[in-house]
Amino acid sequence: MKTSGNDISRKDFIRHSALAVAGLTLIPNMMNASPLFDKDNTSAKGKMNLKNVRLETGFEYQDGEVASTKTDLFYVEVENGKITKIAANQPNAKAVDAKGLLMLPAFKDMHIHLDKTFYGDKWQAVRKRTGGVKGMIELEQKMLPEMLKNSTFKAEKLIELLQSKGTSYARSHVNIEPTSKLQSLKNLQKALENKKKTFGAELVAFPQHGVFYTDSVSYLKEAAKMDIDFIGGVDPFNVDGDIEKVVDFTVQLALDNKKGIDIHLHETGDSGLKTVEYLIKKVNENPTLKGKTYVSHCFVLGKLEVAKQEEIAEKLGEAQIGIVSTIPFGRLIMPIPTLYKHNVTVLTGNDSIVDHWNTFGTGSVLQKANLMAQLYGYSTEFLLSRSLKLATGNVLPLDDKGTQQWPKSGDKADFVLMNASCSAEAVSRISDVESLVHDGNIVF
Ligand SMILES: [Zn+2]
Repeated sequence: MKTSGNDISRKDFIRHSALAVAGLTLIPNMMNASPLFDKDNTSAKGKMNLKNVRLETGFEYQDGEVASTKTDLFYVEVENGKITKIAANQPNAKAVDAKGLLMLPAFKDMHIHLDKTFYGDKWQAVRKRTGGVKGMIELEQKMLPEMLKNSTFKAEKLIELLQSKGTSYARSHVNIEPTSKLQSLKNLQKALENKKKTFGAELVAFPQHGVFYTDSVSYLKEAAKMDIDFIGGVDPFNVDGDIEKVVDFTVQLALDNKKGIDIHLHETGDSGLKTVEYLIKKVNENPTLKGKTYVSHCFVLGKLEVAKQEEIAEKLGEAQIGIVSTIPFGRLIMPIPTLYKHNVTVLTGNDSIVDHWNTFGTGSVLQKANLMAQLYGYSTEFLLSRSLKLATGNVLPLDDKGTQQWPKSGDKADFVLMNASCSAEAVSRISDVESLVHDGNIVF
């Protein structure tokens, strides 16, 4: 059986790359400077011109409804990692020919564990779980020393999978606990360093084994001084038995080190609700945390009465606390439309690709946008086009009125070229990603 890590080989990237088809060489090793910028159709280092780029320009209305999306072809210049010019198409210009492919913002996977995966290694289905989350902690304590041995390699393979699906940025949780200590973080940082030209990331120091249940306090404090962006957490009541003690610690550590917060909350029922309410209270008391505090999963929202869902969504919106959801279905459906209604920032991610928790991650966040559109009935041209924001970290080419808002000169040159006529089609069909550019660098 083929190992999962070989699913997307670099050869496939080259074969399928529109930019490669256009006669450009890819970054053969992402650590090396790309020969791309020495080609005829690029005039200076870090500069690239593209023609026949399809961009969305507005909505076409019929009977008061968005019936279709208008697009046109453009000439786009990229320099030093930024989009520097968007002009009328110049079909005869000496430039990379995007062949009418649709340019969209590059995708963002905002909840994944790049440090802890089987991907790139041997296939292994999930084993029967015993002992709930504490049983999983015990299992991890046994598994992690072995998994850490090649975790840099596996993280790089996983990054390549995400890139193949159009993602060039991730928020990765990284285990910080007494078994891994800081090794999972260090191994991941090595992988990110190796991929830095073509992939960006922000990191969450994640006490997977509890803050106090296994004594992770000193490691978290050390990690907080390192290059991480968020303080994480998991099920304060179920794991540590004390909501306030854990949330207080997390909030203080974030404040002391000027970090954000992103905690896993799988707990439903009373303890789940109390955790959300207490976090809202703490963020309101410490407004510097507004806009940089997130609850991942937050399954409890899916279990509340409608009136309570509305109330909590409104409070989350006011406190500017975001929700990161894998868009679950089956046993639990999240009230995503209610969150949007109250201006709660909603992000998505694959979470697990192949690991001891779950093996169903495809690596695509466009697939998550498609899943959301199916689950909540976002099937019109307008609602499908809006659903794209789940994949792009809330960047959309058109605003709700159909005014072009991306790309603008000065925007980061992070984009995909899609085999689709518009965002709505890309979401509905989960269209193929033909090329990915990150920070002005061609990934494929
Ligand atoms: Zn997770």
